[in-house]
Amino acid sequence: MRIVLLGPPGAGKGTQAKKIADRYGIVHISTGDLFRDNIKNKTPLGQKAKAYMDAGNLVPDELVIALVEDRISKDDCQDGYLLDGFPRTVAQASALSEYNEKVGKPLDCALSIEVPEDKLVSRIVGRRVCPNCGASFHIKFNPPKQDGICDRCGEKLVQRKDDTEATVKNRLDVYNKETAPLIDFYRCKGVLKAVDGDQDVDIVTADIFKALD
Ligand SMILES: [Zn+2]
Repeated sequence: MRIVLLGPPGAGKGTQAKKIADRYGIVHISTGDLFRDNIKNKTPLGQKAKAYMDAGNLVPDELVIALVEDRISKDDCQDGYLLDGFPRTVAQASALSEYNEKVGKPLDCALSIEVPEDKLVSRIVGRRVCPNCGASFHIKFNPPKQDGICDRCGEKLVQRKDDTEATVKNRLDVYNKETAPLIDFYRCKGVLKAVDGDQDVDIVTADIFKALD
């Protein structure tokens, strides 16, 4: 099964992505991890991405697309994958579509987790992430077993710099302008499924499984 996961910042994509990948036995590809791995392993694409990031610039679409295509062409993705954090723009989505058509492996589903905008701020501000393994928690909705410590690797959790109230509004504006149009893009392709993300984490998961089964 090939899936892209859509939803505004704070919708709980990271948390749900792991559960989906486990249930369907597919590879979870988060663009955050993808960048981290390529940079850590000093791949040619990773080196290029790092140069942009070090200069404080956005990594251009072309390069993000190249990284994703490289990743989903690997053996472990032949039975399926879940993309989390990609595509972010219609240009990226079109490129992915073209690639998938070229290799004869179209997407099965674009899953959209929907949360009203006024709920997103508290969700984002309460988020804590692991700087070591990329795991994501929430002080209220998805707390780690031990306060401030990563369940997965034991590292001390941090609040991302852009997870503050001051930056949330801006990120939501960017999302509404650049990423929200993907909902229509995938609806037109006939692969969109929407789930109400404004519920208990486990209920959201159950609804997602229902939609995908
Ligand atoms: Zn960790």
